[in-house]
Amino acid sequence: MAAGGNVLRSGGRLEDWSTRALYRGCGRQAEKRCPAIHPRCRWGAAPYRGLPTPLQLPLGFLYVHHTYVPAAPCTDFAHCAADMRSMQRFHQDTRGWDDIGYSFVVGSDGYVYEGRGWHWVGAHTRGHNSRGFGVAFVGNYTAELPAKAALHIVQDVLPGCAVRAGLLRPDYQMLGHRQLVRTDCPGDALFDLLQAPGPLRSPSILAT
Ligand SMILES: [Zn+2]
Repeated sequence: MAAGGNVLRSGGRLEDWSTRALYRGCGRQAEKRCPAIHPRCRWGAAPYRGLPTPLQLPLGFLYVHHTYVPAAPCTDFAHCAADMRSMQRFHQDTRGWDDIGYSFVVGSDGYVYEGRGWHWVGAHTRGHNSRGFGVAFVGNYTAELPAKAALHIVQDVLPGCAVRAGLLRPDYQMLGHRQLVRTDCPGDALFDLLQAPGPLRSPSILAT
């Protein structure tokens, strides 16, 4: 991962660095068993502001969020990409953060959209950002569930790929945002599903 420094020194283009584990260039999948991840360059991300903090990999947690706003699930690339840009604008311009807060965002189109990616500390789960990846479903899941394709990605495909790539520990825990921070996130319906025995991993140990 030392190669990342070269990219940063030559202009700080986060997207070139952070997709290297899975892609060469913009959008070419290098690992067949990994989900297709739309890299930042594809959804039209603005540059990272400042200097990102590297994660110490592998991490032991995957924190599940819903975006709440946008409240409507996105069901095709154009809408999901527009949601990514609007969330990044909100996080950078209104919240004053360096970048979109989430590590990854999953759309109801069944695709993963790269936020801060595998290698940089995010801003998604206050006090715990250096210990886990923050993955958000686009939508409000207080009363309904995400699309099955999106659930499958977060349940199996993304973490499975991350474990194989040495980015996530094999004994990782999947937790809802509300288990760590006082918040309703990721919504009652989605959280209940997270707590149920299967299909999603049932977290038994809280982060300390
Ligand atoms: Zn959250």
